[in-house]
Amino acid sequence: MEFRIGPAGNSDSFYEEGMKSSVQAPGWLRDRGLNAYEYSLGHGISLTEKTALAIREQAEACGVQVSVHAPYYVNLTSPDPEKREASCEYIVRSAERAKWLGGSRVVVHAGAYQKQDRELALRACREGLLACCRRLDAMGLTGIRLCPETMGRPGQIGGLAETLALCLADERLLPCVDFAHLHALSGGGLKTRADFARVLDEAENTLGLERARQMHIHFSAIEFTDKGEKRHRTFSEEGFGPAFSDLAPELVQRNYRPVIICECNGTQAEDAARMRDMLLEAERAALCGPLPAERTENRPENTKCTEKSGKNVLNRENNFAKRLNI
Ligand SMILES: [Zn+2]
Repeated sequence: MEFRIGPAGNSDSFYEEGMKSSVQAPGWLRDRGLNAYEYSLGHGISLTEKTALAIREQAEACGVQVSVHAPYYVNLTSPDPEKREASCEYIVRSAERAKWLGGSRVVVHAGAYQKQDRELALRACREGLLACCRRLDAMGLTGIRLCPETMGRPGQIGGLAETLALCLADERLLPCVDFAHLHALSGGGLKTRADFARVLDEAENTLGLERARQMHIHFSAIEFTDKGEKRHRTFSEEGFGPAFSDLAPELVQRNYRPVIICECNGTQAEDAARMRDMLLEAERAALCGPLPAERTENRPENTKCTEKSGKNVLNRENNFAKRLNI
């Protein structure tokens, strides 16, 4: 399994360890065995070309893939045509910055219903995304993939089926499946591996296996009420789901190649590293059967790990470590 994993923005520890600028983020992430980084333009597009190119240079040197999150105030379904046009402009400017950063994915919160008919709002959203794609073509930004995100509140456009349907509008649209948001929106519906499997099944049935495999993933623990998402939490805080350990084996078994971004609040880099370890453990288990805590010692007699598959696991792990320079 080829996967990219890292944090959304800089975690608290990044600053606590004396880092000052996102230009330092790729090196800091590489040293922690992470290989993806989502740069947030959520609160505004202030990133300059000079800074973006400096981040890109570091990201390329450190093997870190950068994605971008477009502003939170984008709303492609606004009844006001000027606001729709402005939203399209924010998305296009985010895409331009993604290119400066050497990235190809731009995560988008598509819009809100605002008392509109759901069908009409969805259609406006689809047309808005298509208009953005045409603008990207005209600017030569053809390699950029817009990723509409599944959202955590019922008033927002971004149920799983809606997000997947939006992605059918153009081949270069990829879903950003935020599992924490799906969990919140369904009142805690992601409880077992089978629950995660149903989400991936739905993506594959709508978009086809190949596109589903490339999906963008957001993951964190989350607090919710009957109105949906309340706030993102961390894996260390007790009592908040969903559990990445239930998703990791499904991603491995289906041979996904996702970009996985951890949005845990403040510990996103540390929790991304925990998720990476769960994926590596799932890879190991898929090839060898589950191992005991001591790994190679005391392997149960009934596991069918041949020497060859054991070597494969080690090789894959070493290759992964090499790619990350750890
Ligand atoms: Zn988001």
